[in-house]
Amino acid sequence: MSKGRVYLVGAGPGDPGLLTLRGRDVLGLADVVVYDALISERLLDHAPAEAERIYVGKRASQHTLPQEGINALLVEKAQAGATVVRLKGGDPYVFGRGGEEALALVEAGIDFEVVPGVTAAVAAPACAGIPVTHRHVASGVAFVTGHEADDKVDPALDWDALARWPGTLVFYMGVRNLAAISENLIAHGRSAETPAAAVRWGATPRQKTITGTLATLPQTAGEAGLEPPAIIVVGDVVRLRDRLQWFERRPLFGRRIVVTRARAQASELTKRLDALGAETIESPAIRIEPPDDPAPLQTAARHAASFDWIVFTSVNGVAAYFEALADAGLDARALASARIATIGPATAERLARFGLRPDLQPETFTGAAVAEALAATGNPAGLRILLPRADIAPKELPGTLAAQGAEVHEVVAYRTAPDTASCGVVAEALEADEIDWLTFTSSSTVGNFVGAVGKDRVCASRARIASIGPTTSATLREAGLEPTVEADPHTIPGLVDAIVSCETGA
Ligand code: SAH
Repeated sequence: MSKGRVYLVGAGPGDPGLLTLRGRDVLGLADVVVYDALISERLLDHAPAEAERIYVGKRASQHTLPQEGINALLVEKAQAGATVVRLKGGDPYVFGRGGEEALALVEAGIDFEVVPGVTAAVAAPACAGIPVTHRHVASGVAFVTGHEADDKVDPALDWDALARWPGTLVFYMGVRNLAAISENLIAHGRSAETPAAAVRWGATPRQKTITGTLATLPQTAGEAGLEPPAIIVVGDVVRLRDRLQWFERRPLFGRRIVVTRARAQASELTKRLDALGAETIESPAIRIEPPDDPAPLQTAARHAASFDWIVFTSVNGVAAYFEALADAGLDARALASARIATIGPATAERLARFGLRPDLQPETFTGAAVAEALAATGNPAGLRILLPRADIAPKELPGTLAAQGAEVHEVVAYRTAPDTASCGVVAEALEADEIDWLTFTSSSTVGNFVGAVGKDRVCASRARIASIGPTTSATLREAGLEPTVEADPHTIPGLVDAIVSCETGA
């Protein structure tokens, strides 16, 4: 059998955006991913769905696989022919025992490759506003182990040399030994006034930075309840934080925001919130599924040319209708004689992928506005209007059009099925009052989310509610929840803006 191969991949410091492109590419090739604690689970999404995912890190309730066990696992999987990605926090060769794993692979004659990563000693200070080197301030930087594993500082450390080191000192695994690190450096001649900082969960939305001097940091950190994982930075560069802070100043920094959109559609909202510093929790309340009975959609696709208007009220509706067209052996030309309306820019953008532009898009992005805009183009009486939509789409639009005498063909293009698998996590977080915002981007998510999580739990927490528009807000009110903000315009960017304005008072 052909031998497999192992990639030792640096996953970066915790922000899934700080994986390298090479790292992402090799994850895409993986048959097996072996990963540690401190790794963002989102990185695993880059591996094929069928890849085996093996967690080997520490978890409070579980035994850790000892290093020899990890080495043996990598060898065994590669010998069985698998492409193995060994995903390690930060850089694999910086205090990660990656060297030991590589040696075990060499001994077993297994091909391996190293994909370097962004190490915590650089990333955490950078995100805390501390450059680890700076002209005329620090002409060097040393990475040092604080040796947390057995709770005492490494006896091999040369404190004399470290105290004299003419630059920045960065300690990994130093939280438990912070007092000893400080005492040793001062005792060997480093000034007690040297600025020092501890950065916990650097480069993540949970980042916390504590600053002081070599003399004061241990006590300040102790009072603040500092726990691992944190990086300790010692040197004059720490002073630059006053001017170079940026990460913790982003408008949604540290806010925990729940995204209830279907997973396939959540990414735009999640990315925008992440970029502003929020910690997003994807908790899809719905899943998009094909209709129970595909026949009406198939018929509506085959007879595309028979409609005067086709009105798309969602991205999913566009996707499903064009899939049905393709299945019928047709393409966008089948719509040549129909006029097309879209409810908003995202729907229009999806349509553009098929080379089509809507004839009509209302100024505000609601069903009522579509009906009004349609009527404004001429009397709808007698027109054949196709509405390919969700099974539970609101009835207002077809009702209004039919009342005006149009021949409305409402067809189920997709179904929204409840997807409540992840609601438990959110329910717990609400109980612990750890959620800042709940976001709702359609009526369909409201019912399922409230059904799974419970209205009372939401009301009892401090969580605020952001709604994408009046229809969703009405559904929220029916469910007993009052939206704190409503997006205007009724789009994903509008929703993010509404949250930011509320948070910043802008
Ligand atoms: N190979 C990793 C380091 C592994 S040792 C790297 O290159 O970054 C684990 C230690 O790294 C932790 O105890 C902590 O000191 C540091 N660390 C890892 N991620 C961190 C983060 N996001 N913020 C602060 N420190 C981090």
